[in-house]
Amino acid sequence: MNILVINCGSSSLKYQLIDSHSEKVIAKGLCERIGSEGACITHTPAGGEKKTDTVPMPDHNAAIQAVIAKLTDSSVGVITSLSQIGAVGHRIVHGGEKFNKAVLIDDEVISAIEEVSDLAPLHNPANLIGIRACMKLMPGVPMVAVFDTAFHQTMPKEAYLYALPLSYYRDYKIRRYGFHGTSHDYVSRRAAEILGKKREDLRIIVCHLGNGASVTAVDHGRSIDTTMGLTPLEGLIMGTRCGDIDPAIITFLMNKLHCSAEEVLNICNKKSGMLGLSGGISNDFRDLSKAAEQGNEDAETALQAYALRVGKYIGAYAAEMDGADVIVFTAGVGENDGPMRRRISNYTEFLGTSVDPEKNRIRGEEVILSAPGDKVVTMVVPTNEELAIARQTLEIVETKQNAV
Ligand code: ADP
Repeated sequence: MNILVINCGSSSLKYQLIDSHSEKVIAKGLCERIGSEGACITHTPAGGEKKTDTVPMPDHNAAIQAVIAKLTDSSVGVITSLSQIGAVGHRIVHGGEKFNKAVLIDDEVISAIEEVSDLAPLHNPANLIGIRACMKLMPGVPMVAVFDTAFHQTMPKEAYLYALPLSYYRDYKIRRYGFHGTSHDYVSRRAAEILGKKREDLRIIVCHLGNGASVTAVDHGRSIDTTMGLTPLEGLIMGTRCGDIDPAIITFLMNKLHCSAEEVLNICNKKSGMLGLSGGISNDFRDLSKAAEQGNEDAETALQAYALRVGKYIGAYAAEMDGADVIVFTAGVGENDGPMRRRISNYTEFLGTSVDPEKNRIRGEEVILSAPGDKVVTMVVPTNEELAIARQTLEIVETKQNAV
């Protein structure tokens, strides 16, 4: 079955068409600047060339139409008609406490996603627009919602409650939810598979280090703690997000800068993290490494602060699981940045793990970095959220078909 995976943002839409049998990507692409002038679609058929075209896309319906047009195009297309799409998997950022697994989308599910939209006001409404646009243009095709938060719904209360008056949790559902769940789930499963063990027998710490970043403790197959919270702002230092800070800084800055809470939060989300800490050099680790190599002290401090924060959480999660068996690195930085993995590993040697300098040069591949016989395995497993979404979509659609 061909499964279309859709990741819909407020002005962008990423897509992949995946053959669920071979698990190969048949085509992928990205619509950008939806709703603005100069909207464009970049489409890459498997084995073909990546090409960007300017296409008017006043809204997400137009974007989905553009995606369908590309997929069925006589020259760059990969299918002849829409009937060759068996299901659509939608990445949904926030499922609140309502969803602990992927679900088939119906009116009730749409209302439930709407209900938790105040927890992710930038993401969920955009995700819903994508669902509605696909339903309109592909009537009758089963649609599945896969939630970033679902994998973390196994966290115990002591891990997910904030030490605020309990009524705020009861009345407003303020708690830690965690994100990147699809990736943490996929990567921890794959790590166990590579090691030839059952995930249920392992204590795995997954470090998803991309533009957004989070660490998760996967204890015998269940997420028991993760660094992101009510929103994806908490936890690690990220590309442009500050991660953990003293909440009193918000009001302190409002007074100093004479600005609103929203403006300070905007600084915390978009101008902080590695970009802010390096004095504005970049949020990209390649630029920061280059600057640090050239002697820039602020870039060096930012890189070291990043590693320290990750190392601190690895130590914390080892404490929570009474030890660890596996530490896994994934996502852009985790998969590619050997020197950063080295820096982080300096904080994890006490657990009984090492990093082989030769293997640590490898980029973007599954590799075991530690030595045979180390107490803890350190490894790299590239994430593949789209494939994970396609797999979950297939499972749900097949379960439904078998039930009929
Ligand atoms: P997103 O959260 O946007 O999906 P990614 O997982 O793609 O992010 O990670 C993007 C980040 O990965 C970039 O900002 C960059 O800092 C980092 N990165 C990508 N390639 C490399 C590399 N070769 N060396 C170091 N860092 C890299």
